[in-house]
Amino acid sequence: MLYSDFQGLKLSRLGFGCMRFATDPATGEIDQQKVNDMFDLAIRGGVNYFDTAYPYLGGKSELAMAEALSRYPRESYFIADKFPGHSLPGPVDNAALFRLSLKKCRTDYFDFYLLHNITEWSVRIYEGEDYHILPDLLRLKEEGRIRHLGFSFHGGAKLLEEYLDRHPGVFEFVQIQLNYLDWSLQDAKKKYDILTSRGLGVWVMEPLRGGKLASLAPEAGERLRALRPGKSDASFSFRFLQSLPNVKVVLSGMNEVDQVEDNLRTFEKDEPITGEETALLFEIAESMKRGVPCTACRYCTAGCPMQLDIPYLLECYNDYKYASTVTPAMRLDGLEEKKRPSACIGCRKCARACPQSIDIPAALKELAALYAAGPQWAVTAKPRQEAIRRDLHMD
Ligand code: SF4
Ligand code: SF4
Repeated sequence: MLYSDFQGLKLSRLGFGCMRFATDPATGEIDQQKVNDMFDLAIRGGVNYFDTAYPYLGGKSELAMAEALSRYPRESYFIADKFPGHSLPGPVDNAALFRLSLKKCRTDYFDFYLLHNITEWSVRIYEGEDYHILPDLLRLKEEGRIRHLGFSFHGGAKLLEEYLDRHPGVFEFVQIQLNYLDWSLQDAKKKYDILTSRGLGVWVMEPLRGGKLASLAPEAGERLRALRPGKSDASFSFRFLQSLPNVKVVLSGMNEVDQVEDNLRTFEKDEPITGEETALLFEIAESMKRGVPCTACRYCTAGCPMQLDIPYLLECYNDYKYASTVTPAMRLDGLEEKKRPSACIGCRKCARACPQSIDIPAALKELAALYAAGPQWAVTAKPRQEAIRRDLHMD
C-alpha cells in the first residue's frame, strides 16, 4: 500500500468511501457480511482510512462502518465523518448532532471531520451566525473530539478561495471532486492549485466520477490498454491521481470485493503515469464532455445588461450536460433569482463578444429548462432535514 504523510500520520492513499455499500433493494438493509469481507480485505491490503457521513445510505453507513471496524483496535485505523450542514432543517444543537455521529460510529473522537458539501448554496448555512456551526466544531476540536478539521467542497474555484480567505488557518485539508475528466470540466486543476499553494492537503472524492471512468467506451479502454496491458479502466484514473503530489487520500466508494482487489493492486506500488498516458486520458475526457467550450475568459460578461455571471452559468450547464446530478442545481440554488439563467433576456450581446462563438443565450435557455425540471437541491434535501429533526427529537 502506498501511504501519505500528513502531519506525521501515515494515511493509506486509498481510502474506503462508505457511501455505496450494497443494500437489499427490498428492505434497504446493508449487506453487513459483505461490508465486513470488503473491510477485511482492504485492511489486510493496508487501507487504514474510512470515510462516512451522517446522511450516507439514509444514516446507515455510519452504523455499518462501525460494525465492520469494531473487530479491529481503534488506534489501527482513521475515521472521517462529516457534519451535515447542507441538510439542516434550521439551526440545531450542533454538538448533539455531532455526538450522535460519535455514538453511531462507536468512537469518542473523529480523526478527520469535515463540513459536508460546501457550495454556493450551502455556504450561507455554514456561515450563518444563527447556525453557529464553525464555532461549535472548533470547540469540539479543542476538546479533542475532532483531531483534524476540513471540509468537502462542490462549488466553484472562486468560492473556494473566498471561503479559505475568510477562515485562514482553520482548516487542514479539503476534499474535492477530482479526476482526469473534472480536471477541466469542473476546474479541479484550479482547485487543486489553490489548495496546494495554501499548504492544505487534498483529499479526493469521485475519483471515478460515479463509476463512469471505471467503464469507458470499449475503444477508449483498448487504447489505454495498448499502453499498459492488462490494467483496468479504473486503474488509469487512480494512477493519474497518484501522480499529483498533494493528493493525500483518494476515496473510492467500493461495493464489490473485486473492486477492492483491483484497487489494492493499483495502490500496491508507485507506478507514475506517463506523459503519453496523461495525454490520452485528457483526450478521452474531451470526448466524454458535452456542452460548450467556454474558457472562462469573461469577454462576454461586461456587456450583459442583466449582469449575469455567464462563465459560472456555463460551468453549471456543462455539468448538467455531462450528467444530471444535483450538484449544478445546488450551485444554481445558490444564486439570487435575478442571477439565474432564466433572467437572460436573449439580447445576444454576449454571443457577439464570445471568441469561442458559443450561442450563450441558447445554452442559458436550455439551462433554465434543465434547472426547472429538477432535481433541485432544496427539494431533495427535505427527507434528510426531516431525518435530522427526528434524530434530534425536534418534533
Ligand atoms: S443574451 Fe442573456 S446572457 Fe447574453 S448579454 Fe443578453 S441577457 Fe446577458
Ligand atoms: S466569452 Fe465565451 S469563452 Fe469567454 S467566458 Fe464568455 S462564454 Fe466563455
